[in-house]
Amino acid sequence: MIVYDLGCSAGHVFEAWFKDSATFEKQARQGKVACPTCGATEVTRGPQATRVATGVSRDKAVKAAEQRAEMRQALRDLRKAVESNCENVGDRFAEEARKIHYGETEARAIYGETTAEEAKALDEEGVPVARLPWIERDDA
Ligand SMILES: [Zn+2]
Repeated sequence: MIVYDLGCSAGHVFEAWFKDSATFEKQARQGKVACPTCGATEVTRGPQATRVATGVSRDKAVKAAEQRAEMRQALRDLRKAVESNCENVGDRFAEEARKIHYGETEARAIYGETTAEEAKALDEEGVPVARLPWIERDDA
């Protein structure tokens, strides 16, 4: 919906809602847009900029942004928890996870990077791994 500030030939100014600008043009041409004060159908769009009514979608956008912020915070907390409780083994993750799983090294919580294929292979071998969305740190 678009709200237009309209002016009639007698100088009255009023607001009217239209589906879109084409609808306004069509209805104005057909004389279907009348001044609520004097009934004149000779109306023109005022000099003010048109405003697009986006109330509903703006609320949705705000809510979505808030949810994204909460999600980011949750992921940041998760990252912090992982970093302070687990050992970073970097790109040796798959190797270390296997060693731990097969008892070849000390059992401990580790984290690191691995490829999707490696993660799948670990999964198939029954090595318990979890994939986390890794968010960039604010101080990075
Ligand atoms: Zn009028």
